[in-house]
This record gives sequence, C-alpha cells and structure tokens, in this order.
Amino acid sequence: MTVRVGVIGGGQLARMMIAPAVELGIDLRVLAEDEGMSAQLAATAVGDYRDLETVRAFARDVDVITFDHEHVPQDVLRALVGDGVQVHPGPDALQFAQDKLVMRRRLAELGIPQPEWGAVRDADELQAFIDDHGGGAVVKTPRGGYDGKGVRVVRAGTDAADWFSDLADGEALLAEELVSFTRELAQQVARRPGGEVVAYPVVETVQRDGVCAEVIAPAPGASIRLAEVAEGIGRAIAEGIGVTGMLAVELFETDDERILVNELAMRPHNSGHWSQDGAVTGQFEQHLRAVADLPLGRTEPRSPWTVMVNILGGPAEGALEDRFAGAMAEHPEAKIHTYGKAPRPGRKVGHVNVTGDDLDDAVYTARAAAARFL
Ligand code: ADP
Repeated sequence: MTVRVGVIGGGQLARMMIAPAVELGIDLRVLAEDEGMSAQLAATAVGDYRDLETVRAFARDVDVITFDHEHVPQDVLRALVGDGVQVHPGPDALQFAQDKLVMRRRLAELGIPQPEWGAVRDADELQAFIDDHGGGAVVKTPRGGYDGKGVRVVRAGTDAADWFSDLADGEALLAEELVSFTRELAQQVARRPGGEVVAYPVVETVQRDGVCAEVIAPAPGASIRLAEVAEGIGRAIAEGIGVTGMLAVELFETDDERILVNELAMRPHNSGHWSQDGAVTGQFEQHLRAVADLPLGRTEPRSPWTVMVNILGGPAEGALEDRFAGAMAEHPEAKIHTYGKAPRPGRKVGHVNVTGDDLDDAVYTARAAAARFL
C-alpha cells in the first residue's frame, strides 16, 4: 500500500524529499505556507502551520506527518497526536529542537558534552555569567533563531538589553561560554520509530556570517576516535530523546580534540546535503524511510570525498535560471541542486555537490560551480 507522508512547510527541504519519494513510491504531500514556494510541485494545501484546524485538515489525508522546519507549535502537535495521527518526530522530541534552553537542560541530564551555559533573565545575570567565563559569552534567543539570527557575542550584560526587554515574564535567554573551537562538525543519524539507528560519517561544516557555506564529507583528518565519539554522541541523543527521522547534531571541535554539542535539528539538514550525491542513501530518502517506518538505507560514502557548497544569493541582475546552462557546461562533474527561490543577498537558493578522490580538486570545482551563479 502506498504510504502517504505529509510534510509541514514548503521550503527547500520539503522540495528535496520529492525525488526520493517518487523513487520509493511514497505519496508526498506538502502543506506550504504560500503559493509558489520551493516545494510547490508537491503542495496539496496552502495555509498557516500554527492554525490547528488547517493542520488537522491536512493531516486527515496522510498516514504520517513530518516537517520541513521546527516551528509547528507544541499545542498543535499534541492535538494531532491526541487525534491518533503519526507525527515524526513527535512533540516530545521536537521540543529540544524548538527551544535551546530546553535542549541544554536535557543534554545536561543525558551527560552529553556541551559548552557551559546558563539561563539569564536580565543584564545583571548575564554580567555575572560573563564575569565567570573569561569576560565574554554568546547569548541566544531560545526560540525562533536560525542561520545565526538570534545569536550574539557579548562582552557586557547590557549588550543584550534589546532582547531582555522583549522577554515575557518568566522567560530567559540562553548564555553560553564563548567556545574557542578549531572547527565545526556535524553528526547525522536517522532513527526509526522502533529504535533502529544508523549513523552517517561526521562532516566538517564551514559557517560564514552564521550561515552554512560549505561542508566536507567526511571531516578531513578526523581520527577514528573522533569519528567514534561524534557517532556515539549522535546515537546517545537520538535514543535519549526518542527522535524519529533524521537528527543533525552540530558540534564544536576544540584544540584539545574535545567535542561539544552546539545545537540539534530534527529533519534533513544543510550539513547532510552532501549525502544526496555522496552517500549510498541520501538524507532526504533516509528521512522518508525513517518516518514511514521502512528499513533504513546504508550510510557510507560512495566516494572518498564529497564537497557541498551553498549558492548564497544570486545574480545581481538577471534570472538565476539563466546561469544554469553556463554552470552545467563549465562544470559537468558538479551536481547542481536548485530551490526554485528568487535570489536575495545571502539567501540559500541552491547548492552544488562534487565528489572525487582528491579533496582539493573537489573543493575547487564545487566553489567554482557555485560561484558561477553569483
Ligand atoms: P542558529 O540556530 O542560528 O544556527 P547557532 O546556535 O548554531 O545558531 O549559532 C550560529 C553560529 O554561531 C555557530 O555555527 C557558531 O559559529 C557560532 N556559535 C554559536 N554558539 C557559540 C558558542 N557558544 N561559542 C562560540 N561560537 C558559537
């Protein structure tokens, strides 16, 4: 029987589930926020994901609900579960990707290594945290941040005055030690409802201005120990919070080879786009398999190296589409993925994957092909 998977959110992550859904024979349906979104091709409904009746009506015609983003409110999710709808990941797991303070508390309970952190309610509490942590800190709004928005390096308690004044009674900001990391890594795992977990190789991610710019898979120079520690953290979190579907764990590597968890995403993630062309099972296919409770696919790389470079922004003038033929002609070895989004400075509008035996060659080609769009 054909499984009907409903995706809430019509962004590029939903879009990139379409091709694997067709291959697996899954009937993919998308609740998009607007007309003309990235996942338009599979959009069967348009509406507000915060509105229970809209989401309920969408859920009525599917077997499983999953997500393109983490913003569906808890009360909506819990009402669906109460209706008997299969929701993957479920609200109990998803809360740890929705609220960074809730995540920090849970990771502490699970004994997962993470930066030192505290909940701060005002400038005095932040100042005390800064004084205890070498004169600097990173402050984060617990909810709603993405791509570096809602993250700020501070040196004084008053540096986050605007955010404190927006807090409701009883709310707090997350303060973290300013980690001096050598690089950022990401570990992905997939988990089925029954508990089966598979892990991808740990990758290196490069951020620019808080936005993921490039990913190298596997992480260059990663020792077996490092890879095992990262995988162990991914598995422990997936099991500890009972996630279903893809889980991405963003990590900091420090110069003494310690690994600390930055944050979690419970859906396909930018750090896993490489797997579309570089792994036996791409993350979008794997997410569908996991949420539909189908056997999981193998995760190993198909090539020594895969490099993913995001296309951020787009042509200053003219249409992005006009650039495709040129990029394809000049870089036939590059796999180009487009999101059907209008270019804006810094906006993720596509990415390029290049696989190969030589890392420098793959980096060069992926960067050159992505730059062809700008
Ligand atoms: P977002 O939810 O917007 O992706 P993150 O919490 O991942 O925000 O932070 C964005 C970036 O800010 C990280 O990729 C990292 O480069 C930097 N960063 C975040 N937390 C810290 C920290 N505690 N110490 C140093 N840098 C940090």
